[in-house]
Amino acid sequence: MPTETIFSKIINREIPADIVYEDDLSLAFRDVNPQAPVHILVIPKQPIPMVADAVAADQSLLGHLLLVAAQIAKAEGLAKGFRLVINNGEDGGQSVPHLHVHILGGRSMQWPPG
Ligand code: IMP
Repeated sequence: MPTETIFSKIINREIPADIVYEDDLSLAFRDVNPQAPVHILVIPKQPIPMVADAVAADQSLLGHLLLVAAQIAKAEGLAKGFRLVINNGEDGGQSVPHLHVHILGGRSMQWPPG
């Protein structure tokens, strides 16, 4: 049984969030500490802790998250480009153990990331 996180509380409407998209499988909301003019998190409602925990049965869900991210980026007017980031585990910089795709946009991104 995965641990309850702040993101499951957002899914269950136990804490507020600026939700921009929702469907049966996923939820997207604005990051509380934005690192770009547009910074949105897309999460599965199913609480997979990190991408390394995903299994073959999650294949279409993972694809769905990327399609949702692209759809949101379009709706946010990020026609010049955007960045999708999935942090995985401690060295990956993941702080919330509920898989999430960061959508970052509205400024020019640098490479390599820190
Ligand atoms: P991670 O470091 O890849 O795990 O990203 C977690 C993200 O969740 C960070 O960018 C945080 O700013 C964001 N975050 C944490 N708590 C909340 C919240 O309650 N609402 C929205 N975003 C949050």
